[in-house]
This record gives sequence, C-alpha cells and structure tokens, in this order.
Amino acid sequence: MTIKAYQSHLLTNFSLPAHRAAMSQALSLVKSRLGRHYPLLIGGRRVETPEKIASLNPADPAQVVGYVSKADGGHVDAALAAGWEAFARWKQVPGPVRARYLYKAAAIMRRRQFELSAWEVLEAGKSWPEADADVAEAIDFLEYYARQMERLSRPIPLTPLGDEEDEAFYVPLGVGAVIPPWNFPLAILTGMSSAAIVAGNPIVLKPASPTPVMGALFAEIMEEAGLPAGVLNFLPGDGSTIGDHLVGHRLTRFVSFTGSREVGLHINRLAADVAPGQRWIKRVVAEMGGKDAIIVDETADLDAAADGIVASAFGFQGQKCSACSRAIIVDAVYGELMPKILERTARLTIGPVDNPDHVMGPVVDQRAYDKIFSYIEWGKQHARLSAGGHAMEGAGYFIPATIFEDVAPGSKLEQEEIFGPVLSIIRVSDWEAALRVANDTEYGLTGSVYSKNRGRIEQARAELEVGNLYINRKCTGAVVGSHPFGGFNMSGTDSKTGSPDYLLLFLQMKSVAEQF
Ligand code: NAP
Ligand code: MG
Repeated sequence: MTIKAYQSHLLTNFSLPAHRAAMSQALSLVKSRLGRHYPLLIGGRRVETPEKIASLNPADPAQVVGYVSKADGGHVDAALAAGWEAFARWKQVPGPVRARYLYKAAAIMRRRQFELSAWEVLEAGKSWPEADADVAEAIDFLEYYARQMERLSRPIPLTPLGDEEDEAFYVPLGVGAVIPPWNFPLAILTGMSSAAIVAGNPIVLKPASPTPVMGALFAEIMEEAGLPAGVLNFLPGDGSTIGDHLVGHRLTRFVSFTGSREVGLHINRLAADVAPGQRWIKRVVAEMGGKDAIIVDETADLDAAADGIVASAFGFQGQKCSACSRAIIVDAVYGELMPKILERTARLTIGPVDNPDHVMGPVVDQRAYDKIFSYIEWGKQHARLSAGGHAMEGAGYFIPATIFEDVAPGSKLEQEEIFGPVLSIIRVSDWEAALRVANDTEYGLTGSVYSKNRGRIEQARAELEVGNLYINRKCTGAVVGSHPFGGFNMSGTDSKTGSPDYLLLFLQMKSVAEQF
C-alpha cells in the first residue's frame, strides 16, 4: 500500500443512528473505566508518585475521571536525561521511518475514535461534535506532519559551486519541553508532540492539569505505536511548580508552548536566560490568547452572520483561542441583526454533555468559572446585559451563553481574553470604524468579516491584523492543511500549525560542502 495524499479526517454525523449508538456505547465503556490511575512515563519506565492530580468531570466535579501521577523536579531531571539518551538513536532514524510511528498512531486513534471522544466529553466538558472534531484534528495532525517529514527528508536544491559537492539537510534540535493547554486536550497536545517527535526530537510532555487523562491516553497510544523508550516522556505536574524547572533547565533545547499570554511571556523570559552549562539559545514557540472579532457591515447576509457569530462565540462554551469574543456591527444593520443573534443564542441548550441534546456544557473548572463570572459582574456594571449572565442550578461549572451590548471600545470587557461564553457587542458608525475597533487590541489571532463589498473584503485581507482571517464564515474550526493556524502580536509567535512551515520550528539546517 502506498501512502495516499493527505486529506482531513471526516467529522462524525451524529444524526445517524449508528453513530449515536457507537458514541453512547463508548460513553458507557469510559464510565466503567473512571477513576483509574495513570503513571508518569520516563525513559520507558512507568513511575507512580504518591501525590496525584485528580482529574474531575466539570459537569459533575464529584466524579473523578482519573488519578494521574504528579511529577516533581527530580522527575524533570530524569526525563530530560532519558530524552537525551534516546536522542542519540532517534536522530539517526530516517525521517520517513519516524513518520511511520505517526501513521500507526493515527490508525490506532481512528480505531478508538468514539472512545477517545467519550473521554473528552467527561474530562473536558466537550459536546459530542466538539469532542469528535478534536479527535479528528489529532488524527489530521499525525497524518499531516508525517507527510511533511517525508517531504523535508528529500534533498534540498542548492546551486552547485565549482567542483564541490554541496548539500544541505535538516537535523533535529534535541530534547524539548512540550506544554499544551487543556482546551483541545487531544488535538493540540498531539500536534505539538508529534511534530517535535517526527522531526527527530525526544520530548518531555507536560499536559495541562485539567485534562491529564487525555495526555496519558496519548502517551499510551504512542507506546502502542512502538515509539522507542525515552522519545516521549510523559510528565504531568503543576505548571507553576515544575514548569519553571523544566523551561529553565540547561538540558532543555526548545520549548513548545500553547496557552495563555501571561504564561507564554513568562516562559519566553525564563527561556532567554542561559543556565550554567547550557550550550544553546533555547528556541521558544509560543501560541497564546486571542480577542477575536467578527465584523458585520450593512451589505452582509445577516442570517449567515448571526449563525457565524453564535457558533464562534459559544462553541465549547467560548473556550477556544479562536472564539469570537467581540461582534462589531455597523449601525445601519444593528437593529436587524441583534434579534437574530439573541434568538439563536436563546436556542442553545446547556447541561451535562454526555447527553447529546446539550449543545453547551460546563466550563473547565472552578478557577475558570470564577474568572468568567468576575468579568460578567464587571460587565453588568459597565455594559448592558442582554442574554445569560446568571448562575445556574447544579454542581457543574455551567455558565449560560452571555451577551453584553453597548460595550465600549477599549474597555476591559472589550480588551481582555475572558475565555468563556461571554460575547461583547460593539456598535460602530461604519465600516472604517469597525476596522479600527477590530485592530485596536494587542492580540491578533482570528477574525471574520461578513460583507458583500469586494473593496472592503480586499481591504480586510490587507489590513486586519490577524493570523487567521475568515470571510463570510465563522472564525473557529481551522482545518489542518487548509488553514495554517497561529496568531500575530500578543497571540504568539505565529507558528502556523498544520502548515508546511511548522516542522521547521523543530529542525535546523546543516550545510555540507566537500571538495574532492
Ligand atoms: P495556561 O494556563 O497558560 O496553561 C498552559 C500550559 O502551561 C498548561 O500546561 C499549564 O500547566 C502550563 N503552565 C502554567 N504555568 C507554567 C509555568 N510557569 N511554566 C511552564 N508551564 C506552565 O493556559 P490554559 O488555561 O491551559 O489554556 C487557555 C489559553 O490557551 C487561552 O489563553 C487560549 O487562548 C490559549 N490557547 C491558544 C491557542 C493558540 O493556538 N494560539 C490554542 C489553544 C489555547 P497547568 O495546567 O499545570 O497550570
Ligand atoms: Mg477536568
């Protein structure tokens, strides 16, 4: 069999009875496996620690999804040492051979697709389609980066100089720290990890603390795929305690981070210091937050705009870096568009997401819940609440889809990343004002424009300062290979995941000239 051209994995259609049944069955299976223990993985050895991270179901925090061993500084030292030991062999494995481990892992994920989705429903609070999309994206990353490594293993064309033999090729960097967020607990973790690994770099993977079980499942899958010991070291632990040790370590060659602006900037600063005995400048890849806007002008299809805004703002409870947190609407259509947005928002069902009737689930944990509500309280004082905003019954971290109108440009609500189901509506006089407000943020991740005016669309293409611009469609749901993903400015280093450039971040080029 030859490897086919890359194609993104199809999403599951849960309106088909067979798929609904498969997902229900997977949920029952996963529910029978809750509360298991997951060890650290260091150099192929499983390490149980006395202290555990208890991963909770955010829809029912009394339910423990799993107990995950918790690493300390000594484990970080051991994992980095194991990584360097593995590097000696892993760097010599040809790129196309390393790629096969990813193809194998993708095949395992396809076979376990519903089960992995079920784990996400319970650990992260994703609805069925959101969980399914996350698993599909993880598969896409594996398939895509494997092929990219095959491409990057081919000879690099050079201009021959005289009688010399001139060649250049890519070599890996060394052992890196991979630090993903919890909000795409399989997709982002898999993409960041597999890119570094297929490029020839062993990693120390520190999953986000709210979703360590998804990380443990990934580590198991890579083990099942036959990855040599020490190439993937799995090290859950508290970011604020082991994070600095890992990032600042003299043996850490690079840091691949996705998460908040605050932590990303901290890591960038710490990684710039040279530890005693350190022999390189650490490379930092940091993908951070967003304050993403959707602009609607007076020529737009208002039904499409309302659909796009509501889907982008409230999908996965607004906990996406790409989520629409600002809708910027021109005066001329404000009165017609707002009822469409409110009516669609009112239809969003909310509750425990093991039930597929619920479109929205809980936010991830108590900390997120408190932080989001502090913004809602601020909004009630400084803007006009027109949907949601109230506490809900039950123990889960449920926050209803919340909309504020009359949000002032430049205000806290309009500038800071809330990372929850809170949408700010900004009313502007015209298109030019809309562009100005959209760009008046230190972030620059995603954005959408709904307009039929060709001149304005071209202007947006040139002038909207975002890494991912969408026109007449929602601003979430980037597809690996079709929408290279990453933001400008304080949204990060624009690493463009799922693009032909991404693996280069984990490689360096060596040039060799020989005269005979
Ligand atoms: P976060 O709080 O910054 O955490 C991200 C990761 O960093 C977690 O694994 C965390 O571990 C770890 N960490 C915390 N402090 C650390 C330290 N001092 N040193 C090293 N690592 C440390 O972000 P999050 O809440 O998980 O994720 C939400 C954020 O991610 C949002 O801002 C969102 O916009 C952003 N995001 C960006 C993208 C993108 O592509 N641009 C994609 C997804 C999400 P603990 O969990 O143990 O604290
Ligand atoms: Mg949890």
